[in-house]
Amino acid sequence: MTVKIDTDRVFRLIEEKRPTRVIINAPGGLLRQTMELMRLVEQKYGTQCVLVGDSCFGICDTVDEEVEKLGASIALHIGHNASVDRVGDHTYLVDAKDDIKFDSVVARSIPLLAKYKRVGLATFSQHLDELEPVRRQLEDAGFEVHLGRKNNLLLGSQTFGCDFSTVFENSDKVDAFCYLGQSEFHAVGVALATGKPTFLLDPYLEEMRDMREEAEERQKRAILSVYKALDATVFGVVTGLKEGQMMLGRSKWITSRLQAHGKKVVQLAMRDITPDRLAPFTGIEAFVQTACPRISIDGFTFGKPVLSIPQADALVALLEGRSMNEFLRRPKWIELTVGQIPRK
Ligand code: SF4
Repeated sequence: MTVKIDTDRVFRLIEEKRPTRVIINAPGGLLRQTMELMRLVEQKYGTQCVLVGDSCFGICDTVDEEVEKLGASIALHIGHNASVDRVGDHTYLVDAKDDIKFDSVVARSIPLLAKYKRVGLATFSQHLDELEPVRRQLEDAGFEVHLGRKNNLLLGSQTFGCDFSTVFENSDKVDAFCYLGQSEFHAVGVALATGKPTFLLDPYLEEMRDMREEAEERQKRAILSVYKALDATVFGVVTGLKEGQMMLGRSKWITSRLQAHGKKVVQLAMRDITPDRLAPFTGIEAFVQTACPRISIDGFTFGKPVLSIPQADALVALLEGRSMNEFLRRPKWIELTVGQIPRK
């Protein structure tokens, strides 16, 4: 895998902003390249770089609020580009792109996709440049291909693990989605959110994988957690402290709905919501967390129900005597606050 950070953009920013100190954060998979970038910046410009080593899973994990605390003037957030190039007051998004081509895996997939005439494409930040070549290849093979429209946060056909809005609007126009890349995490999200057959086109293993089983497994677990939570009398409602996923309004709304149905609520705020961090709260029978929905939907190791926002909506529906319906079938599972920019 050759993922390259857009160092030219970083150099242009340093020359334009002339910071004496820069703080940087990046996902775990890009730390080696990020440390090399820091070395280059320090060597070329004499600018001090501080790498924030906390977890960084998505564009929600920006460190804008740390800039002033750490005596810096700008922050660089690596590897989660979007339709905006700046977020918060000080943070610049810096692309990291993978140069792997998809022609081979697409050629192998075409016979397997034959029964799906209308195909939607989706991918994550690192493979966005491959959407057009894949579209042409599929169209040349006779498929009707649909790309998603860019919006206020996502580029065309781009998805995050919690935001499928660009491709969701194509759900009725396509028979199946093809997700470009190796990320089952992202492809399963598209399958769950759209309800469409979704295939991962993996350019490294050169194989197409059907996400149906993984999606069904997660859906079953998500539903089971809602039913388990229904019997709880004491809830912890956890507001995430990460700056792009702080949903205080949602936490308040869910708290009020639970209380209206006689549930006791302890309000909590946490940066990292993990089984270890929740274990000490022995008096709490179920949690609702309004931070990253994937903590709940992919988090199979919690000993108690830990519901995401869509699951909490399903729980409230049941408490109110309504059907929970297809609660994961929606364009976004959280309204990322990273889109509300700038703050000042
Ligand atoms: S909140 Fe969304 S963008 Fe952030 S880590 Fe979770 S899935 Fe990714």
